[in-house]
Amino acid sequence: MVKLINYTSKPEITIATAARLCYSSYGIAKIEADFNDGEKGLEKARKLIKRIRTSGHESVLEHSNFTFGVEKLSRSASHQLVRHRIASYSQRSQRYVKEESPKYVVPDSIAGDEELSARYNKMLADIFSLYGYFLEKGVPAEDARYLLPNATETQIIFTMNARELLHFFRLRGCNRAQWEIRAVAQEMFKLVYPIAPSVFYGAGPACVRGNCAEGEFSCGKPSEVRMSWLKGGFDF
Ligand SMILES: Cc1cc2nc3c(=O)[nH]c(=O)nc-3n(C[C@H](O)[C@H](O)[C@H](O)COP(=O)(O)OP(=O)(O)OC[C@H]3O[C@@H](n4cnc5c(N)ncnc54)[C@H](O)[C@@H]3O)c2cc1C
Repeated sequence: MVKLINYTSKPEITIATAARLCYSSYGIAKIEADFNDGEKGLEKARKLIKRIRTSGHESVLEHSNFTFGVEKLSRSASHQLVRHRIASYSQRSQRYVKEESPKYVVPDSIAGDEELSARYNKMLADIFSLYGYFLEKGVPAEDARYLLPNATETQIIFTMNARELLHFFRLRGCNRAQWEIRAVAQEMFKLVYPIAPSVFYGAGPACVRGNCAEGEFSCGKPSEVRMSWLKGGFDF
């Protein structure tokens, strides 16, 4: 469902070069060469990024971008995703693309119940059938789509920089976040962590690094959540 389409080449070295530049009297070529020196250079970059993350000098993380593609996402989840403003989005249009075959997401809480899932599927089949009928009658797709439910599947491509990704993982990786966007956040983390471990180590909700930030709404499972995010517990 989540694919990493592209990312800044050598994301850690790019970030480290930008960070070192702020404090170095050397020219850019020398700074770059220092980090592009095989394993030794990469180690230096990672050490510097660790310091940056501890000090909170996070603007340099914005130099590395990651582009994701997500399919089979509900419109309900995509609406939550696009609330994140420090990102670029391209989403399949319901004006230009007709939702001809009924494709929609069924939450587990409904799928696991025979009666509820039968009623859910029947209601959605009726909605999509009425949508098709409206199109046949000449209603433009941009108007017929008013019938479509939050469950309707969409696909979206988006780009976030590493700083925004850390923020996104903090909010959407928490058990308080809705399950579908949380699953997207976890999949994204699994894809980016091996590429830039110094940037994404310790990513995730507040409890990964310290205390839960949710107060009385806490899920009460901080150590479980911490282990998942720290040890790559999402089954790498
Ligand atoms: C568990 C959960 C429940 C939620 N429930 C609701 C809800 O009931 N209703 C609702 O409307 N939303 C809800 N949201 C969405 C939430 O309010 C945010 O809109 C969304 O998470 C995006 O967060 P953000 O603004 O921090 O991130 P981004 O838009 O990605 O921005 C990143 C950071 O950039 C800075 N920034 C961005 N734009 C501005 C700006 N204009 N001015 C100043 N600083 C800026 C801020 O520091 C911000 O944190 C919920 C989110 C979560 C995780």
